[in-house]
Amino acid sequence: MSDFIAIDGPAGSGKSSVSKAIARQRGYGLLDTGAAYRALAWLMLENQADTDDAEAVIAAASDFDLRLGLDPDDRTVAVGDTDITAAIREPRVSSAVSGVARVPAVREQVNTFFRSLVANSPLPAVVVEGRDITTVVAPDAPVRILLTAAPQVRAARRAGELAGENAAAVAEALHKRDASDSAVVDFLNAAEGVEVVDSTALDFSQTIDAVLSVIDRKQGAEHGR
Ligand code: C5P
Repeated sequence: MSDFIAIDGPAGSGKSSVSKAIARQRGYGLLDTGAAYRALAWLMLENQADTDDAEAVIAAASDFDLRLGLDPDDRTVAVGDTDITAAIREPRVSSAVSGVARVPAVREQVNTFFRSLVANSPLPAVVVEGRDITTVVAPDAPVRILLTAAPQVRAARRAGELAGENAAAVAEALHKRDASDSAVVDFLNAAEGVEVVDSTALDFSQTIDAVLSVIDRKQGAEHGR
């Protein structure tokens, strides 16, 4: 049974790359919960199902053979035998994913899956990143962090990752997704006991250091009890 290191935050906050770097450095697992929602959205698009129809989302989730591991050096995501690691990052999936993530029964189903992955891991800890990890998936985690950044900085980072995409279109898509997502879970304000790390003025390595210092402090407090 691993400890949860819960990291929430919006797109472009640096959450994914920072979580990955920390998991590798510390020998922890890494669970990208957004990948599960993206995989389900991909499956529905593949089957030409309507991602805004809750019944259709529930039907798709009932037959969803998701393969998602905890190895930070192997970020393969598959549905059945189909490798969709790259496909789930496509803008068409990003645009459809909020519809899928809005369905409460589906959230419960994937949360049970996430908890069992962490419970069955032999690693000392798993960095679990998402939107509702600090509040819903693991509200009792010893380490809970909200990684934020100013909206314009997040949009610029995301446009940099998606080379070739129009920067203004990327920013608009990101703000639209934030608005839909934050109607479902509040990942813009920290819940009680959650530490905020604001990466607006920090570069990548400074953000890693800031998050690691929270982890060390919280783990120290936990072990000192
Ligand atoms: O983190 P990422 O941008 O890959 O997440 C994709 C989508 O999955 C989010 O836009 C959101 O709709 C959903 N999500 C969620 N809860 C999580 C993680 C992701 O609703 N814990």
